[in-house]
Amino acid sequence: EVKRSGRNSFMEYSPSFEEKNVSKIILFEDLKKAVEEDELLLHFQPKYGLAHNHIVGVEALVRWEHPEKGMISPGEFIPLAEESDLIIQIGNWVLREACHQYKAWEQHSYINFHLSINISPKQFLHPNFTDTIIQIVEETDMSPAKLDLEITESLAIENTESTIEKIKVLKQYGIQISMDDFGTGYTSLSYLSMFPLDRIKIDRSFIQYLPDNQDHLAIVQSILTVAKNLDITVTAEGVETQEQVALLSTLQCEEVQGFYFSKPVPAGSLLAHWNAQLMSM
Ligand code: C2E
Ligand code: MG
Ligand code: MG
Ligand code: MG
Repeated sequence: EVKRSGRNSFMEYSPSFEEKNVSKIILFEDLKKAVEEDELLLHFQPKYGLAHNHIVGVEALVRWEHPEKGMISPGEFIPLAEESDLIIQIGNWVLREACHQYKAWEQHSYINFHLSINISPKQFLHPNFTDTIIQIVEETDMSPAKLDLEITESLAIENTESTIEKIKVLKQYGIQISMDDFGTGYTSLSYLSMFPLDRIKIDRSFIQYLPDNQDHLAIVQSILTVAKNLDITVTAEGVETQEQVALLSTLQCEEVQGFYFSKPVPAGSLLAHWNAQLMSM
């Protein structure tokens, strides 16, 4: 927003502290209501295996259709929810809903891709986290081996011991663990060997300027080399161009996800993508 000050000069309009807080409180109250009244929904973005160009997984991404403001991005409301226990409620809703959806897809088609769910740090750090996950998996009859939880790097830095413990419990139960947005935190590559991970997802910021950016190319190559030695699958996030696909393929990156292949779509469209692929197999 800009306010006019004088003839040709514009001044940044910055809302006051009170204004910001009032709108934040209103949005928070709306979000609480949205959760209670079931106004959240899920979209799904496919993840492709580069070897065969097939869907190997789908990531559930939460959406909020605000009655007046329209679609609000999770980048905006997830951080807000994270400031309170509301994130626990949202996180559980997302997991339950996504597992129900997966079971519904199974009823309509032969599917063998996995389902990825984003887990917020606060949710992961909750003392009941692993119990709650296992409880929802049982309640929805989801196959643990088809479930993949995306955690973030920040957990790996600050709560190493208990994080490893929780990951082990989930892995023993058969659930896959991925580290999301890799490279944005301060984890060094040597950290990777400490965590029993199935997958790391290289953050979009390192993919975005490929193939031109030589520094990013070097970073991506290093991640791929270390991950290969540790037997961890790598997904490149935010792939948008044919050039990026070609490069990642040459570098033998196993999995790719991004607008080049598909944006996040409603459940019905996701199944249509999958069925079209089955037909061509
Ligand atoms: P994320 O988990 O890293 O998800 C990837 C985000 O990048 C998604 O944004 C997706 O739409 C977007 N994206 C995918 N491919 C491309 C691409 O090629 N180009 C560009 N520009 N963007 C791409 P979205 O859905 O807005 O989600 C943003 C973030 O919000 C997610 O990042 C995740 O951290 C968080 N989030 C979303 N759903 C949930 C959820 O259910 N629970 C939690 N805790 N966080 C969630
Ligand atoms: Mg994610
Ligand atoms: Mg990500
Ligand atoms: Mg990301």
